[in-house]
Amino acid sequence: MRRKIVSEVEAKKFFEFIGKSKTFFISGHVRPDGDTVGSSLALKHFLNKIGKKDVDITMREKLPSNYNFLPSVESITVANKVSKKYDLALILECSDISRMGLDVNLDNFNRGIVIDHHQTNKIKKYNNNWINITYPEMASCAEIIFEIFKKGRVQIDKEIALCLYVGIVTDTGKFQWSNTNSHSFSTASELLKYGINTFDVYRNIYGNKSVKSLLLLGEVLRTLKREKVGNVWISYIYVSYDMYKKTATTVKDTEEFINYATSVKDTDVAVFFKEDGKNIRVSFRSDKIDVGRVAEYFGGGGHRNASGTTIEGSFTTVKKKVWDFIREIS
Ligand code: AMP
Ligand code: MN
Repeated sequence: MRRKIVSEVEAKKFFEFIGKSKTFFISGHVRPDGDTVGSSLALKHFLNKIGKKDVDITMREKLPSNYNFLPSVESITVANKVSKKYDLALILECSDISRMGLDVNLDNFNRGIVIDHHQTNKIKKYNNNWINITYPEMASCAEIIFEIFKKGRVQIDKEIALCLYVGIVTDTGKFQWSNTNSHSFSTASELLKYGINTFDVYRNIYGNKSVKSLLLLGEVLRTLKREKVGNVWISYIYVSYDMYKKTATTVKDTEEFINYATSVKDTDVAVFFKEDGKNIRVSFRSDKIDVGRVAEYFGGGGHRNASGTTIEGSFTTVKKKVWDFIREIS
C-alpha cells in the first residue's frame, strides 16, 4: 500500500510552527520553476489569509516571465544575501540548503520547515526547531502542500488553488511525465473546483513563446543526435553562447527544449548540454536509468527520471565524462 502522504505528526508540527511565528521567510531553488513559484505563493496566500502579514518570498534569480500571471508574483524579491531575522523559514524544493543559492545564516531563523519531493534531499534536521517533510513519490511540492492544507482543514481559495495547480501542471509536464500519478490527478481535480481556467494556465505558461526563442530552438535542434552508450540509447542536444548571440536569447529561452530530445523514437535517456561560463550545465531525463544518481555523481541532484548538474569543462570533455559514467551503470 502507498505510504500516507504527510503524517499527523508532520502536519501538527507545521501548523504549530506557523502558529508560533510572526515573520516568515519563503524560498526555493535557483532558477525557480513553476512548482517552486506556485508552491511559495500558495504558502504566502495561506499565511496572509490567516492574518500573518509579514511574509517574504526571496529567490536567487528572477522568475521566468510566463509566471507573471500568478497572484502576488510581484511580491517575490530577488536577492543573493538574506540578513533579516525571521521566526520561520519555509524552504521548498531544495535537496540541499545551498540549492537556494542565497548567502544565508540558518541561525537567523528560529524555526524551519523543509518541504520537498526530490529523492536526493539531504537536509538533516538543523536542530529540534526544524522539520523536513520530503515525499519523493509525489510529482510536485504543490501536492505535498495540498495534503498539509487538507490535514489542517485550511480553507483553500481560488488564488491558492491556482498557485498549487500550476505547480502540478509544470512538474508533471502537463500530466504526461512518468512521475505523474493518481495523486497528481486527484489533487488537480480537487483544485479545479475553485474555478481555475485551464486554458488560461496553458496559454500563460506554454503558449507564450517569443519568436526569438523558437529561432533558438531551430539552432539547438540542428545539434540533435542519437547514440548508443553502454546499454542505452541517448538522444542529446546542445546550446552554445554563439546560438544565444545569433538569436538574441538567453538560457531562460531554453526551458522545455529537452523535451524534444526525450521525444525521439527509441530514446532511453535524453541529455541537454548548455554552455555556461567555463562550465556545462547538463539536464537529464530518463525512464530507463536512475538519472538522479547520474546527476548526483557529478555533484548535482534531482529525481529518478529528471535531474541536472553543472560540470566544469568543454562540451566535448563533459560529454565524454557523462557517457563514461552512463556506460558503467547501464
Ligand atoms: P532541469 O533539467 O534543470 O530542469 O532539472 C531537472 C530536475 O533536477 C529538477 O527537479 C531540478 O530541481 C533538479 N536539478 C537540476 N540541477 C540540479 C543541481 N545542480 N542540484 C540538484 N538538483 C538539480
Ligand atoms: Mn518540484
